Amino acid sequence: MEYRLLGATGIRVSRLCLGALTIGPLQLNLPVESGAEVILNALELGVNFIDTSQFYRTYPYIARALQLYSGRDEVIIATKSYASDAAGMRAALEEALRELSRDYIDIFLLHEQENMLTIRGHWKAVEYLLRAKEKGLVRAVGISTHCVQGVRAAALVPEFDVISPLINCTGVGIADGTREEMEAAVQFAAQCGKGIYAMKPLGGGHLLHRLDDAFQYLLSMNELAAIAVGMRNRAEVEMNVCIFEGRPVPDAVRQAAKAVPRRLHVEEWCVGCGRCVERCPSKAMALKNGKAEADPSRCALCGYCGAHCPEFAIKVI
Ligand code: SF4
Ligand code: SF4
Repeated sequence: MEYRLLGATGIRVSRLCLGALTIGPLQLNLPVESGAEVILNALELGVNFIDTSQFYRTYPYIARALQLYSGRDEVIIATKSYASDAAGMRAALEEALRELSRDYIDIFLLHEQENMLTIRGHWKAVEYLLRAKEKGLVRAVGISTHCVQGVRAAALVPEFDVISPLINCTGVGIADGTREEMEAAVQFAAQCGKGIYAMKPLGGGHLLHRLDDAFQYLLSMNELAAIAVGMRNRAEVEMNVCIFEGRPVPDAVRQAAKAVPRRLHVEEWCVGCGRCVERCPSKAMALKNGKAEADPSRCALCGYCGAHCPEFAIKVI
């Protein structure tokens, strides 16, 4: 496994990062022991980097995997919060420290920022994180974003160490631009000294049919210290580790990992309230004839809309 420094943070991460969203309640909703086992498989094969969020509700899985892993102190954890003020961010940090049984969080990000305006709107939360960093409770601060303008804005903020952008070989899920525009923004952010790790390399499942190409596209981008990949089982972990290490994937592993493409399903009891439309970061959801409907060509299958549906009418299946 290749390890790289994340910008100027001094934090060394494995190029393959385990994205915890997939195993948790917003997507597969695995039992804690099964999800922890997937994480443990990855750690034992050289992955030292886990990406999560307060919103994903996956801290119990990570905490359990760390309990079982002898090298737990070397594992790098990045988490995120939507908190916009000091009190909210303080609660988010305390929750992460408590639930992960850690003395500090390596990387704490503002979740899903769109541009400089939204970053300014969260500045009280950033100031809280910067104070926490001075106290040693956080090692690096930054944002995650699905937007080209989010990357460009964060690149210009000296207080930010890390950016986690959505980027993949077709650009599916980028909210405000093309793949090429996101590439240029990532290059700009790297020139500004930011540590960068990508998310949604497979577009939430859209690119499973061209998985090797999709990974090679991101692995060839030197600006990316790591790439966060959601993994559902041991076979997927083994396959991804092989690809990231430049080794052929054994046929049996590829066969076992063969994934059924996922899709977003809206139940017929949708009442058309539109909350999912407002919440979709990829502008993929719309109301049609009074019901929610996702545009498959834009939907990154993140599951965020489902978490905001008061009728529990949305599922990634
Ligand atoms: S939030 Fe749920 S109920 Fe409201 S429009 Fe979306 S799917 Fe329908
Ligand atoms: S429609 Fe839902 S799952 Fe698809 S990108 Fe939007 S929030 Fe994510």
